[in-house]
Amino acid sequence: MNQHTQQAIPFIDLGAQRRRIGAAMDAAVLRVVNHCQFVNGPEVAQFEADLAAFCGARHVVSCASGTDALLMVLMAKGIKPGDAVFCPSFTFCATGEVVALTGATPVFVDVDETTFNIDPASLARGIATAMKLGLAPRAVIPVDLFGQSADHDAVAEVARSHGLFVLDDAAQGFGATYKGRRLGAFGLATATSFFPAKPLGCYGDGGAIFTDDADLAETLRSVRVHGQGSDKYDNVRLGLTARLDTMQAAVLIEKLKIFQDEIDARNRVAARYNAALADVVKVPQVVPGNVSVWAQYTIRLPHQDRDGFAARLKALGVPTAIYYPKSLHQQTAYRQYPVAEGGLPVSERLSADVISLPMHAYLDAATQDRVIAAVRSALA
Ligand SMILES: *Cc1c(COP(=O)(O)O)cnc(C)c1O
Repeated sequence: MNQHTQQAIPFIDLGAQRRRIGAAMDAAVLRVVNHCQFVNGPEVAQFEADLAAFCGARHVVSCASGTDALLMVLMAKGIKPGDAVFCPSFTFCATGEVVALTGATPVFVDVDETTFNIDPASLARGIATAMKLGLAPRAVIPVDLFGQSADHDAVAEVARSHGLFVLDDAAQGFGATYKGRRLGAFGLATATSFFPAKPLGCYGDGGAIFTDDADLAETLRSVRVHGQGSDKYDNVRLGLTARLDTMQAAVLIEKLKIFQDEIDARNRVAARYNAALADVVKVPQVVPGNVSVWAQYTIRLPHQDRDGFAARLKALGVPTAIYYPKSLHQQTAYRQYPVAEGGLPVSERLSADVISLPMHAYLDAATQDRVIAAVRSALA
């Protein structure tokens, strides 16, 4: 093995993007440093307008993180103890955490075996479970996991028949489309995250909420700043300090300009992986008509020692990650919350056999070929 093939491959290469837009980014950040409006600077409103134009949502409320985005919607809607909020168990912890933080009860439901997204039949069973427990079903939080949209039409149908509102957790899926429409327009509201490793990431923490409901948007702007009323020393409800920094907005304005191009590049990388690996592992599947943003490229190894596989790849300089080794209902912090009747066997199987490969918009063919060769040799 020569020096080149032994060099470790990054899981996500943020430096490659920096090399592409470095000069414009430096100028954008310097403008903020010079005008000194670090909170509520002009870039924040500009970025909110750019996001609205990008995804078609009527109102955009930027905020400090994806977790705050989810929590703010639940707070604005008055979610409280005794309420049940349904979410998939196979997700990042923040999806369930925000429900518990309001004092409401997260009720975990199972996911679909091919898309890894919320299973509408399990959602219906979860609603029955909640009612038997004397909880009031209020909301569902579908997740667009790994960058692929959940089945929003099917979720909406179950939600409508039980009077639930839908809060889409698009922290991994912002930029993706469902039946030809961008995420941000499904349900009552959509939350996303600009954590650096997300498909559209900033240089720290950030998030945003999308909604077509003007009253909700106004309440969210109040919740974002300590529940302010006519001004910040008039407090009409509980709130947070959850603003997006001007500096992050400036960074995101520049990154949004190249986001569609990066989504296209991620799809080319995913297509190459699919073509090269479909005969040896279960490759991810995107529902026809949807476009994923490939927050992760996640394969399944049903009959393999996953730790051994990861160790063999690591020895070949190829990093991997496991999203998620435990589903939420298997986590210490969430074990006491109810799960949908029938249990969550798919979430448990996925937690046992998924593994994610390096995925970003700047993964060149030669480097990707090294990953592919390593995966094939680690399975042999
Ligand atoms: C990252 C993520 C969040 C939380 O976003 P932060 O900006 O890190 O707070 C919420 N839900 C999902 C599915 C995520 O992947």
